[in-house]
Amino acid sequence: MNVATASTWLEIDLSAIRNNVKILLERAGVPLMAVVKANGYGHGIVETSQAALQGGASWLGVARLEEAQLLRAAGIYCPVLVLGYTHAERAAEAAAAAVTLTVYDPQLARDLSAQAAPLGVQIPIHAKFDTGMGRLGVFPEEGVDFIRLLRSLPGLQLTGMFTHFARADDWEHATTTTQLKRFQTLLIALKAAGLRPQIVHASNSAATLYLPEARFDLCRAGIAIYGLNPSAETPLTAGFRAALTWKARLTSVKVLPAGHGVGYNHRYFTQKDERIGVVSVGYADGLRRRLGNFALVGGIRVPMVGGVCMDQVMLNLDGVPAAKIGDEVVLIGRQGDVVITAEEVATAWGTVNYDVVCGLEARVVRFYLEN
Ligand SMILES: *Cc1c(COP(=O)(O)O)cnc(C)c1O
Repeated sequence: MNVATASTWLEIDLSAIRNNVKILLERAGVPLMAVVKANGYGHGIVETSQAALQGGASWLGVARLEEAQLLRAAGIYCPVLVLGYTHAERAAEAAAAAVTLTVYDPQLARDLSAQAAPLGVQIPIHAKFDTGMGRLGVFPEEGVDFIRLLRSLPGLQLTGMFTHFARADDWEHATTTTQLKRFQTLLIALKAAGLRPQIVHASNSAATLYLPEARFDLCRAGIAIYGLNPSAETPLTAGFRAALTWKARLTSVKVLPAGHGVGYNHRYFTQKDERIGVVSVGYADGLRRRLGNFALVGGIRVPMVGGVCMDQVMLNLDGVPAAKIGDEVVLIGRQGDVVITAEEVATAWGTVNYDVVCGLEARVVRFYLEN
């Protein structure tokens, strides 16, 4: 199977990822952690990570230990931070994979220490602070005590600390500025006590681009390395390129007579003789099961008609008389002069572009290209 014969597939432009990482690095002026959780936001964790490292990223960020293990199994040995929860009993696995774990709770830290110390290992950890996200993290007011605790626990080696912004992408500056201030206040107290960890970080993609004061020692960028906008209000600037194109193939083209039902439950009826195409992509690939989706065929926007099936969907091809079996259909990306962006699809689906690309299922074959 190759791009010429696949049913539905992604074309991932690795040169776009390298390019995007380079731009972010120039902009940030500090080292970059490429966030590659959730299978590299659907783009493929291993290939994306390699491209990001080639582009100059020095860290990789994942949500879970098993994602870090995938990287190690693929021979990727750069520093990796697990941003989310890790069960204390996985201390040996974490040590074997030589990854940095996030610690955000005193009891979890003690549990991890109790597991790590008897193994004779030193697990590198980053402390996480909740400056306003309302998710994981110790409140900054308890930060000095927390850092003292982490430095005292055997089997753990504190190398960094971080926080995460709730609203860096919506220009609601009050929240972000308040979060930043609380983090900076903690840092001042830690410095005064000689307790500041080596690597301090706070920025996601939106903050990396739009909040220079929050760059500290490292920026953590996910969505931007894939060339996707953090939000409409914090768009990517010139030079970034979307890495992903989602394609499928026309598998049938025929004229249905007027009044003919299309698909399960006949959620569409032809008004007249209509050329109806079938496409080899469905909700089990990540196409949302809703009416009103669009695709590109022959460089023209055409509507999907009828419900989205598990593995297939139908199109009205009246606007593309030349369309024939085997033709490429673009669900996200460019065809000729026309583009459907992940952002446009997200808006139609009532969600964000993150959700659209992370929802691209494993069975959609990924092809890696250099454009
Ligand atoms: C996912 C994640 C990021 C990356 O966010 P983007 O908006 O994709 O840049 C950064 N930090 C943490 C803690 C995350 O969970």
